[in-house]
Amino acid sequence: MSLSSISSEELWQRSGRLEGRDSEFLRLQDRKGAKYLLSPTHEEEITEIVASSVNSYKDLPLRLYQVTRKYRDEARPRQGLLRGREFLMKDLYTFDVTEEEARATYDQVRRAYSAFLDELNLPYLVANADSGSMGGNLSHEYHLASANGEDNIISCKKCDYSTNEELYSGVLGPHELTQSESPLKGCDINPILTSTPFLSKDKTALFNIITPRDSGPLNTHLLKKLHPTIDTTLEAPFKTWSALNTKNPTRTRTETQIIDGRLAHLPLSNPTGPTITHHDTALTSPSESSTCPSCHSPASLKVSTAIEIGHTFHLGTRYSVPLNAQVLSSNNKLAPISMGCHGIGVSRLLAAAAGLLMDSKGLNWPMKIAPFGAVVVAAPKTAEEDVLSVYDALALSSTPEAAAFAVPSTSTMGSLDVAIDDRDRPLGWKLNDADLIGYPFIVVLGKAWKARGAVEVQCRRLGVKEEVALGNLVDKLKGWQSQL
Ligand SMILES: [Zn+2]
Repeated sequence: MSLSSISSEELWQRSGRLEGRDSEFLRLQDRKGAKYLLSPTHEEEITEIVASSVNSYKDLPLRLYQVTRKYRDEARPRQGLLRGREFLMKDLYTFDVTEEEARATYDQVRRAYSAFLDELNLPYLVANADSGSMGGNLSHEYHLASANGEDNIISCKKCDYSTNEELYSGVLGPHELTQSESPLKGCDINPILTSTPFLSKDKTALFNIITPRDSGPLNTHLLKKLHPTIDTTLEAPFKTWSALNTKNPTRTRTETQIIDGRLAHLPLSNPTGPTITHHDTALTSPSESSTCPSCHSPASLKVSTAIEIGHTFHLGTRYSVPLNAQVLSSNNKLAPISMGCHGIGVSRLLAAAAGLLMDSKGLNWPMKIAPFGAVVVAAPKTAEEDVLSVYDALALSSTPEAAAFAVPSTSTMGSLDVAIDDRDRPLGWKLNDADLIGYPFIVVLGKAWKARGAVEVQCRRLGVKEEVALGNLVDKLKGWQSQL
């Protein structure tokens, strides 16, 4: 498919997704004042098309995909392609008759995404995720582990628990509940507590979050979930609070104290307002010493930063009910279609892979997504037919008719595209440029070619710089490329 980037607001009103997300849409109007938006995703459009063209259970299952541009009014676009207002996405929409079949489809897509990430040969994580504004109740995120990542993935070293920090809810083990038992002792500055102020979005309420001292940064995702009115974006909340109160001393306001479960046993009264105690919950971000919420092993968690590059959602009837996408079932009853949607951020994946593998000399593309697997570079005055003979040895080895280089179907050599750098430049300049571009392999026709008819193969990622006879070239590359 190739669905339009321009979507009518009316459609989004019908699915109920227009409310509350105003800031994320790039909106526009036509000359007649009709309202449109630049699509950040296409569930509404595709459900409407399927609703009008599919009638019977016999038309399903149906799977439709596209690779298109998407738009979002990102508050702080940054890190180049990693977080932009315009991005390229592959999205797949699935339509099944029953919930059960839709879940089976979901598992198939999950396995395909993991297989794709296996082939990229980059470190990745799959985490349970929050379905957020997309809807549905089952979703997974696919992340590349990266120090530059903006997502925190919490996983357990003892079991298969793995989740986005947004979904992490800090359960407390028994050992943690009794940990901070030292009494208050009446000090001026309390040695065991940290108090962090936040305001409500309408600035009429002050929240003091009380956590054990040195227990790490606050888990703002969890705070927002427990107390949806809290504004975690304000930089100096207490200063703002004081200024507002000085300006208008009689204004209506409340001051609430929110207590971390590890401090539940302390006598913490609040003279200025109510106290809310979260008895079984840690309000700070998870750390290596936290208890696993799944297997309850103490000190078993691992926190990794990562870049989200894919997401799978089981949507059920979230869109098919409001947009009237239904089919006649085998017993002649109308039933809403069960849906899924699944995306890979194409431009983001490129940026993440580039960031992970680049070095001081340039980029390094994973074999599977490198536009060209190898470049042939020759010293000046090398005969053109010599360059072409090396090119043919590599490129023709991937066609079925090249019996001499016949490869088993499990080999990935079948996808080797080869470039020739025939620009009129010195050899050293071209080699530097090839390093910068990040071809997995550089095949050089230099001194050894003139002397012995051999090429030099360079692969920076594997530290390879080796003279190879033309007859052995394909086999050699096959051996190396499985590691790229
Ligand atoms: Zn565990």
